[in-house]
Amino acid sequence: MKCVKCKGDAVINIRRANAAFCKEHFNEYFTEQTLKAIKHFRMFRKTDKIMVCVSGGKDSLVLWHVLHKLGCDVTGMYIDLGINGYSDRSKDKVNSFAERFGLKTIIVDLREKGHPIPFVARKAKREDCAVCGTIKRYYFNKTAYDGGFDVVATGHNLDDEASRLLANIMHWDDEYMNNTYPVLPAGGKMLKKKVKPLVRLTERETAAFAILNGIDYVMEECPMSKGATSLVFKDALSTIEENMPGSEIFFYTKFLERVKDIDRSKTDSDEMKICQTCGMESFMDKCTFCRLVEKVK
Ligand code: SF4
Ligand code: ZN
Ligand code: ZN
Repeated sequence: MKCVKCKGDAVINIRRANAAFCKEHFNEYFTEQTLKAIKHFRMFRKTDKIMVCVSGGKDSLVLWHVLHKLGCDVTGMYIDLGINGYSDRSKDKVNSFAERFGLKTIIVDLREKGHPIPFVARKAKREDCAVCGTIKRYYFNKTAYDGGFDVVATGHNLDDEASRLLANIMHWDDEYMNNTYPVLPAGGKMLKKKVKPLVRLTERETAAFAILNGIDYVMEECPMSKGATSLVFKDALSTIEENMPGSEIFFYTKFLERVKDIDRSKTDSDEMKICQTCGMESFMDKCTFCRLVEKVK
């Protein structure tokens, strides 16, 4: 297998692009695809202050790496979820990555704050992932707001987004479908803009990028993800893609074209209240996060 650019030995074959690349030209392809998403969806400008949410996994570390190499002002933000073993190993990966490249990091430790995920889920009698979603969303936004960041970037890739779209179509969930978009605008005075620059790249490609560039990431999945229905949709899409290369990106990008003009701005600032407990904007007198945390005290 030869690289389509230089005819040297290829290290990866990307069937949907009908192309194989050597390491150098794969890195070039990967960066081009990321830039294409950033420009097409007007994610941010070169001067913006970007906070990347990092988990220690391949996608978020690769995103952090690529944005840093592109010369962006980027800071990694890690939330220690308090999941014994897994959280410690992921934090180690984030810290060593930041140290190696001399990158700025912010760490929020839920154990120190008194509300680690397994504890809150048990006390609130709710699923770990539901609790985790509420808590992570809160800290991502609060940290970005407190730190004066312009935009919050996450490492969601094409497989994540296309499988989420498929799941939402299966349930005809219009509200979620409308929010399946690589850019969500800022809202009120405190809600930060959210972007997903890796939406044109698959999980296999981010894994290859990480391995080829010596990025050491946590390989194990979060133990709470076992049996998640999202994996069923990912498997289904992977079978389709295997048989018909290019189907996944076609499915996803055609959907984006159809919904590109939907107004996703959350709300005007005058519709928002201020949470009496934490001072962040909320639709109610007390925000969802504060109500959850108080419930388990
Ligand atoms: Fe949180 Fe669930 Fe994801 Fe684990 S699998 S990080 S608990 S949302
Ligand atoms: Zn090449
Ligand atoms: Zn609050």
